[in-house]
Amino acid sequence: MEPIEKFRQETREWLEANCPASMRTPMPEEESPWGGRNAKWTNPDSKLWLDRMASRGWTAPTWPKEYGGGGLTKEENLVLGQEMRRIKARAPLASFGLWMLGPALLEFANEEQKREHIPPIVRGEIRWCQGYSEPGAGSDLAGLQTKCEDKGDHYLVNGQKIWTSYADKADWIFCLVRTDPAKKHDGISFILFDMATPGVEARPITMISGASPFCETFFTDVKVPKKNLVGELNKGWTIAKRLLQHERDMISGMGLGSGVGSSASLESLAKDYFGEANGRIASSALREHVAQQKMDGKAFALTLQRTAEEAKAGVGTGAASSIFKYYGTELNKRRYELMLEILGTQGLGWEGEGFTPEEIGVTRSWLRSKGNSIEGGTSEVQLNVVAKRVLGLPD
Ligand SMILES: Cc1cc2nc3c(=O)[nH]c(=O)nc-3n(C[C@H](O)[C@H](O)[C@H](O)COP(=O)(O)OP(=O)(O)OC[C@H]3O[C@@H](n4cnc5c(N)ncnc54)[C@H](O)[C@@H]3O)c2cc1C
Repeated sequence: MEPIEKFRQETREWLEANCPASMRTPMPEEESPWGGRNAKWTNPDSKLWLDRMASRGWTAPTWPKEYGGGGLTKEENLVLGQEMRRIKARAPLASFGLWMLGPALLEFANEEQKREHIPPIVRGEIRWCQGYSEPGAGSDLAGLQTKCEDKGDHYLVNGQKIWTSYADKADWIFCLVRTDPAKKHDGISFILFDMATPGVEARPITMISGASPFCETFFTDVKVPKKNLVGELNKGWTIAKRLLQHERDMISGMGLGSGVGSSASLESLAKDYFGEANGRIASSALREHVAQQKMDGKAFALTLQRTAEEAKAGVGTGAASSIFKYYGTELNKRRYELMLEILGTQGLGWEGEGFTPEEIGVTRSWLRSKGNSIEGGTSEVQLNVVAKRVLGLPD
């Protein structure tokens, strides 16, 4: 038997034996396995599944074994993904550490930092948040002003971040700070600190939906140990950009309909609400829209897959991540527009009677999808990156 087929067989057996039955069902939003010091496990199987996967390093399958990762080759990782999909296994861990920080640490951190921070990410023990945006620095991120001063034996941080997703629930933050006010890009550093440090305050921002997924985050005389600087002083912009590429790669996957409330196929939804004629969606106009969306989704999935296979291990897709971020998030928004169109007046529900939980899920996900083309850099910014860094056009 080929080694990869042996790996498939062993993986299949292990997953069958270790993936709890309730982890083979679609994931309700409240069961998202974010982990962290204060994780609340509404379903104990989520924790069991996380621990079992983490014990093999399979929450981060391709990260090196020495830092707790799975040490899998790309081919083995593909097989693991296929075998998990075969039994409809949930992802064991949702984590900014996994999607953004970890890959950046593997590339830029020193040995001590890798050993301190990567294994807890793999095990889902520390929940990270991202301190990038500020009230005056969003698209023009390099204009950030959060001050970080060298005080001899530590750094002192003062300033404000905004839109910090889940800062009130996070244990640690990866943060961009200004260490040289005289320079723009070359005056930024990348630091890590514990959100429990005195002087850190996260105030949740309540949205129109009533949810508070992000915060204003204030830093007042926050003392940060010097060992928490990643890379060189004033060279944080390079790390920041690479981390954004990982973030964009992660967000672009949403265009394939992996978001909450999107498990229903467009086709079956259309048949349920518009009826069937000869096994097809009864409305020819809607049929055309659904077919177009499915074709675009398929073409995008294949392009992502091809690029992932071409990309060098661990480095992500580079500036091309902006193409995928742009296209994937716009595709995702179109998908939800179409779902709302299919639901008709049933897509107007927010809560209460008269709407099924699935209908309410679609409506909420439709609103949430609007944020996809803003977070991680807006669509306009992605087009600028594509123009400059992919096509080589002048400013
Ligand atoms: C759901 C969600 C989660 C987020 N989570 C986080 C987080 O965890 N941590 C974090 O740090 N940030 C987070 N953000 C913030 C996000 O990164 C910023 O909102 C984003 O970078 C845009 O910045 P801004 O909101 O300041 O908009 P602005 O930069 O003020 O942009 C306003 C408008 O102007 C356009 N624009 C700006 N500059 C240009 C230009 N040069 N060319 C063309 N058009 C331009 C933009 O496209 C946009 O339409 C999150 C945002 C959302 C929506």
